[in-house]
Amino acid sequence: MSQPADPPILSTRGAVPTDQRHRLVECVGNTPLLELRRIGAEVAPVRIFGKAEWYNPGGSVKDRPALNMILDGEATGRLTKDKILLDATSGNTGVAYAMLGAALDYRIKLCVPKNIGPIRQRILESYGAELVMTDPTKGSDGAIEKAREIYAADPDTYFYPDQYNNDANWRAHYATTGPEILEQTNGEITHFVAGLGTSGTFMGTGKRLREDKPDVRLISFQPDGPMHGLEGLKHMPTSIVPGIYDEARADQNIWVRTEDAQKMCLRLAREEGLLVGMSAGAAVAGALQIARDLKEGTIVTILCDSGHKYLDFEFWGRK
Ligand code: PMP
Repeated sequence: MSQPADPPILSTRGAVPTDQRHRLVECVGNTPLLELRRIGAEVAPVRIFGKAEWYNPGGSVKDRPALNMILDGEATGRLTKDKILLDATSGNTGVAYAMLGAALDYRIKLCVPKNIGPIRQRILESYGAELVMTDPTKGSDGAIEKAREIYAADPDTYFYPDQYNNDANWRAHYATTGPEILEQTNGEITHFVAGLGTSGTFMGTGKRLREDKPDVRLISFQPDGPMHGLEGLKHMPTSIVPGIYDEARADQNIWVRTEDAQKMCLRLAREEGLLVGMSAGAAVAGALQIARDLKEGTIVTILCDSGHKYLDFEFWGRK
């Protein structure tokens, strides 16, 4: 059947009919769950699966919470057309806000560490977001401090979802990521492994999985030090701890070395055909670490984004 000749969604800023708006929004979530057959073979009969979050329209897992925080802001009346959406982000949430802002006609202002690199800066600017560059030596915490300062000086101008302290962040995963994993594994998941940034993915998905499967093991992972270069992840002992994070949710926390995450990125590209970002490499390195101690089980982890944005990192060139 031929499709009606609709105008492209993202180029009709300011004049998006309601049905168009819903089309882009409906593309968020329902991502594939891929079995890592070759990497998993070394721990058989344990199986390792990765949720391919780059299938989201903004290219990462963060489309889910960004959309939910916007919908929550609209529903509670805190986000109206005259407000500017302001938040701190090291990348993917910013891309998600910027994309959704363009599609849903909201102005977006993002505090980002100055060292996010030219590619990510270009992506954000291309969607029309306004950027406030923050001290690179302070990382995502510097961006958080700046967003708080801007909001405090002029609270009436902004809608500040504050992804680190907003329940609509983890609830997005409770409502979507968790149920999708349960369905895609036919309820056979035994271990869930996820990295901590805002912690929304781990907290929300973990809560949902635990409710359905009380025996499921929930394993969080973090970079093993403060200067890790694993985009999107936090080393909690040296960071501003997100308000939505509760370490008691995890049955176990493991520490992943940057070197191991990068090596796993190369293995995923060369052995599985998956060009994923460093946090996804870290996730699979962590999942493999867990798998080695098991006799059987079904491990699910999250592949938060693709590697494209990070190709300027030297390690991709290694043999
Ligand atoms: N990996 C990447 C690439 C991310 O952008 C993020 C989000 N900061 C995470 C992992 C961590 O996700 P969460 O914020 O839900 O903990």
